[in-house]
Amino acid sequence: MVSDGAAPPSSPDRPLRVAVIGAGPAGIFTADALTQQTDVPVQIDLVDRLPTPFGLVRHGIAPDHAKMRAIRETLHRSLDHPSLRFVGNVEIGVDLALEDLRAHVDAVVYTYGAALDRKLGIPGEDLPGSLAATELVAWYCGHPDADRERVESALAAARSVVVVGVGNVALDVGRVLARTPEELESTDMPQHVLDALAAAPVEQVTILGRRGPAQASFTTQELRELGAMAGATVLVDPADLELDPDSEERAAADRVVSRNLGVLRGWVENAPEPDRIPLRLRFFSRPARLLGEGRVTGLEVERTAVDGDGRAVGTGEVEVLPADLVVRSVGYRGSALPGLPIDERSGTVPHDGTGRVLRDGQLSGGEYVAGWIKRGPSGVVGTNKADARETVAALLADATAGVLRVGGPADDLVSTLQARGAEPVLLEDWRAIDAAEIELGATRGRARTTLHEREALLAAVRAAARR
Ligand code: NAP
Repeated sequence: MVSDGAAPPSSPDRPLRVAVIGAGPAGIFTADALTQQTDVPVQIDLVDRLPTPFGLVRHGIAPDHAKMRAIRETLHRSLDHPSLRFVGNVEIGVDLALEDLRAHVDAVVYTYGAALDRKLGIPGEDLPGSLAATELVAWYCGHPDADRERVESALAAARSVVVVGVGNVALDVGRVLARTPEELESTDMPQHVLDALAAAPVEQVTILGRRGPAQASFTTQELRELGAMAGATVLVDPADLELDPDSEERAAADRVVSRNLGVLRGWVENAPEPDRIPLRLRFFSRPARLLGEGRVTGLEVERTAVDGDGRAVGTGEVEVLPADLVVRSVGYRGSALPGLPIDERSGTVPHDGTGRVLRDGQLSGGEYVAGWIKRGPSGVVGTNKADARETVAALLADATAGVLRVGGPADDLVSTLQARGAEPVLLEDWRAIDAAEIELGATRGRARTTLHEREALLAAVRAAARR
């Protein structure tokens, strides 16, 4: 590994200085793993391009999953550590070049996730009325970068909705669109999101799997939840549940698959009911093209069979599903940070298997990666904990071996940013946002209402600073 300086001292007077880029679960677990060890004194800057911490816990986990979102309380406690400084509203590569950041610290850990959507690569994909799940999820979670106009105009015409993909995100999207306004009232969704969802004319939702139910990637608890909705009835075609021998084998070997099949079988007798939204789970159907002129009116799908290698193979049998809104929920993809390499195929930063970043196939001293940008968009929030520990172990081993290069004074980071016109949001500023959201929620009897616009978030910070 390259060392272009003396080994950084790691004494309480001169702790190891680490910047963690991305304050989602992977970033906070990384910071936590660093602060919870005592071998190497550390000082951490946890940088995020948003003025708010928590990444996908705030802007990804469905707002009606209150129990899952409660993990933010645990993550919040981690932010209080005296060796940790939250530096929000700072985009590396825009407000500060990566190179300049690296001059301030001894090591950088990239934990900025996978924010982009995957494309289907079929005709009509860019028609109005076709959205990526990432866009819809960002919007209903109140992400400052969500394109309100685009999502809300698509939703305003959405009678028939088709969600492509059978992962947990597809279930989230289908479920949120089929919820009653009363079911969503207790969430922290922005008020305009609640209003737009209540006004959306949704009459039917279809969730589409290109392979069979034995190959679906959703998990059982999330699937089961569809059956407990106040205003929607799950419909499944019994023919989709007739398994070929390979799928039988898969179900016998994998408890999640067999449980999923059990849940699906429990719904085969369901029939459409008046005044309830039919929520269809339809398998063996792959999207061929989106139809419509000026906006989406339908989705052409081809019936498939699953071959011996588990791949979807077209049968040539084509059908058109009515659709005013098509949501592609076919996975997330990581993007490059200016100055950082990315493997375009996997959408991850190349690393040595334990989180040490590789540049041109060589270890790059002082650069590490954890979370989705390390391993791809998979697993639950907790998966990032072990992942972050692995990366931190590599970082600490390198620090102890004295192979990290020495950065400049880390305390200068915030003043450097301010001198460049950036407006870093620190922990007490985030607390002001937190308080403003709780206060806004209380005006409608809710625990919290998410502030959507970046300006509203920053206004809460400025108002608190004036007090
Ligand atoms: P995912 O689990 O990878 O699911 C992607 C889905 O898209 C799969 O069904 C896949 O089918 C399908 N797909 C991919 N390309 C396609 C194409 N060209 N045409 C049709 N279908 C296509 O991804 P995700 O749903 O985005 O979730 C990401 C991660 O977050 C997962 O680990 C998930 O469990 C996690 N998550 C968890 C929760 C929760 O715990 N409640 C909630 C949300 C997300 P094939 O299998 O055929 O490729």
